[in-house]
Amino acid sequence: METQGHFPDSIEALEKLKAGNARFVQGIRSPEYNPTPEKLKALAEQGQRPFCIILTCADSRVPAELVFDQGLGDLFVIRVAGNVIAPSLLASLEFATVNFETSLVLVMGHSRCGAIQATIDAVRNNLPAASHNIEDLIDRIMPAVKLQLPHHTDPVKLWDACIAENVKNTIKKIFSESEIVQERVKQKKLMVAGAVFCLDTGKVDFDLELF
Ligand SMILES: [Zn+2]
Repeated sequence: METQGHFPDSIEALEKLKAGNARFVQGIRSPEYNPTPEKLKALAEQGQRPFCIILTCADSRVPAELVFDQGLGDLFVIRVAGNVIAPSLLASLEFATVNFETSLVLVMGHSRCGAIQATIDAVRNNLPAASHNIEDLIDRIMPAVKLQLPHHTDPVKLWDACIAENVKNTIKKIFSESEIVQERVKQKKLMVAGAVFCLDTGKVDFDLELF
C-alpha cells in the first residue's frame, strides 16, 4: 500500500509491476497484499492512491491485481473487452491521473483474446454484428485488424499481431484524444506503456515493438 510514504514515479511503478508479475509467474502471492478488513478500513478512511492505471481486457483470465501480485488500493483498473478506448474509459483514466497523481498508464492486451478474434472473423466474413453495441466494440478494434490482416497467413501469428497492434492503437488514441494525457506526459508526470499478458505462461511481455 502506497497511501503513505514514497509514491512511485513512472519508472518505479513499471518496475513494481515487473517484479509483481515475476512473483505471479512463480505462483507466489505475497501475504501483505491479501485483502483484510483493516486494510479496507484504512483505505476507506484515508482514500486511495493507486500507483498505476491499467487498461486491460474484461476476460476473466486477466485479473490485474493477481497478475501483478498487488493489493487493495494499488491499481486503478479499467477493464473492457479488447482493451479499447472510448470516451467514458478515457474519462476514467483522466480522473485517476488528475486526482491521484498516478504516474503510469499500462495498456495490456492478452493472448487468445476473444474480442480480437471476433473482430478478425467480422472483417474476414463481413457479417453483421449480433448487436449495435458489439458493432461499436468491433469498430474500435477494426483498424488494428485491417492493418495486420494482409501480412499474415498463419492464424495464430495473425491473432498475436492484431493483439499487439490493438494495444498500440489504443495508446495512440489515448494520446490523440486526451489533452490531459498529452500535457502530463509533456510535463514528465505521466508515462503510457503497452504490454501483452500471455494466458499460457502468466508472463507479461513489456517489450512490445510499439512504435
Ligand atoms: Zn480479451
